[in-house]
Order: sequence, then C-alpha cells, then structure tokens
Amino acid sequence: MQGTVKSLATRLGFDECRIARAMAASHGPGFRQWLADGCHGDMAWLARNPERRCDPREVLPGCHSVICLALNYYPGSSPGGGDAAAAGYRIARYAWNDDYHDLMVNRLAEFDAALRACGGVQRCYVDTGPVLERDFASAAGLGWNGKSTMQIHRRLGTWLLLAEILTTLEVPPDAPLGDHCGTCTRCVSACPTRAITAPHHLDARRCLAYLTIEHQGPIPEEFRAAMGDRIYGCDECLEVCPWNRFAQESRELAFHARPAIFANRLRDFLALDDAGFRRLFARSPIQRIKRARFLRNVCVALGNTGTSDDLPALRRAAGEPDPLIAEHAAWAVARLEP
Ligand code: SF4
Ligand code: SF4
Repeated sequence: MQGTVKSLATRLGFDECRIARAMAASHGPGFRQWLADGCHGDMAWLARNPERRCDPREVLPGCHSVICLALNYYPGSSPGGGDAAAAGYRIARYAWNDDYHDLMVNRLAEFDAALRACGGVQRCYVDTGPVLERDFASAAGLGWNGKSTMQIHRRLGTWLLLAEILTTLEVPPDAPLGDHCGTCTRCVSACPTRAITAPHHLDARRCLAYLTIEHQGPIPEEFRAAMGDRIYGCDECLEVCPWNRFAQESRELAFHARPAIFANRLRDFLALDDAGFRRLFARSPIQRIKRARFLRNVCVALGNTGTSDDLPALRRAAGEPDPLIAEHAAWAVARLEP
C-alpha cells in the first residue's frame, strides 16, 4: 500500500510523500499552552476545537494513517531574477503568483478518488485544516520542525507547502528523520521583530507574516519600522536557513513571479481602486486580504523606504474614506515630510 500511495504522489507532482501513524500530535500540550498564552493573536479559528487539531482520529473516525505531502514552491531568489531588492519592496515568495491552495486542492481531490477506489475514506487538507500538520510531517520523517517552527526538508529547505490526507487505510508508517538544526540559531537572530521568542516558539502577535496578512486592524506602531519594505508576509527566517543551499526552482510555473505585479512601483499600488486590485491580484493569495489591508501595508513600506516623490500619492491616500488606509498614509507622510 505504501508503494501505491507514494507512486500516486509522484504522479500528481508532489515532491515528497511520507506516512505517519494517526495518533495524538506530539506538540498538542505545547499548542494548547500557546493558545492559552494568546500567542495566536486574532486567529480565533486556531483556538476552535483544539482536540480535533491535536488528534486526526477526532476528525476522521477510524483514521489509521496520515499521508504527508510536500510541494516545492521556490520561485527563485528575486522576482526579476537578479537583485532581490530590484522591485523596491518584498512579498513572501509563496505569494508571487497564484494561490497554492487552488493547485493543491485539485491534486488532493484526484488523490482522494484513487484512495477511495482502494476502499479508503479520506479527509484532505492544505494548511487551513484542523491538523497540527508539521507534527505529523516530522513524525513521518518528511522533515523536522526547525527552530523557526517551520518544517525543514533536507533537499527542499524551507520552501515547501504541506498538505495532508487523513485516511482509514492502513499504510505502513515511515521513520522520523530527527532534528537537524544542530547549534544553528540563524532564524532566531534574523527575525526583525523577535517573534521567535525561544527556539521552536513563535509569538504570532509579533510576527510580520501575521501582522501583514492575518491581522485585520492597524499595524502596531512598535512594529512598523521593522516591516521595512515588506508588503505581504515575511521570508526572513526562511531565507537565512542553511538548509536552503540545495533549493531548486519549482517546476510549477504558477508559483513563478507574476510580471504584472512586480512591474508596479510601491506608490503605484496606492492608485488601485477595488476593481483594479481584484484584477491585478486575481487568483493570488494577496487578494484574500483585500484592498484596505494591502494598502495599509504599502503605506507602512512607503513610510520606511519612500522619498519626497511618494508624498503626493500618500497625501491622496491620507484622504481615503477607509480609516485603515488614511491613518497609515498619514503616518507615512509624517515620516517622509521634511
Ligand atoms: S516570518 Fe518574519 S517576523 Fe515572522 S518569525 Fe519569521 S522572520 Fe520573524
Ligand atoms: S535557520 Fe538554523 S535553526 Fe533555524 S530552522 Fe534553519 S537550521 Fe534550524
């Protein structure tokens, strides 16, 4: 059965497939404490039904195995293929083009159909599911949870998307790989907001990926300067990981940089109305945060990196009816005015 599952994963374009036994997640108690400490910020969905999240058998009665899948999304070192700062702003690599959920969900549906034909009942998830996916990926030996809390793969480094299939089929499990961070602490030191408060512990409320994407309100002033030129997400703790030395560009063209996005200067984004925003970011993960939150981020980045040439666009934005945009634009104007 294991051979069938792994060949199916390869045929469907996944870069790795490992199997874990369905059992209580090793990080369950730590996860509950993390929630109790409020480290999940506004992500209330994470606190719903923690018992389900900590044990796949609570999600799928009769679940025997967790099929852990990884897809390489590495689109290269910079959107233009050269100097990483050429665009004048940074977007987390997974969001340089199409939303990975769409691509992976279609493949998981095919996987599910093939396993149903073998008599299995499945639940398939791509990172929004109720499963502590990195624990099962580690148990299956797909990789290990690095000190950054991200799953690290020996060959793909940090640039992988995880998916999992809970199944009632009994698939022999793989052996874990163990932790290969060693004495390295590069991710902990590189974090611009000290969000990795200890190895393997992330306070989402300080994390720029959370603040620029999940967080709906104003960016707290104490973190605005640390955002630098980032307008969606943050790759800092991934970029510094030495395990990325083997990373190869993804075969999936849907993950390579979309030229229409990176052709814009930072201040050009301020001219987007709702329809223009939806057009530019069609099928992109960025569309999820909608125009106001995106322009909020753009204003902060302009406040950090802009020049007097950006002031007219920022002053117009400061007059926007949406208070989220107006306040961040006014903050940027105050930073740039002589
Ligand atoms: S994503 Fe950025 S802000 Fe968040 S933990 Fe990593 S380096 Fe820190
Ligand atoms: S940067 Fe170092 S400590 Fe952090 S995840 Fe990578 S190997 Fe581990």
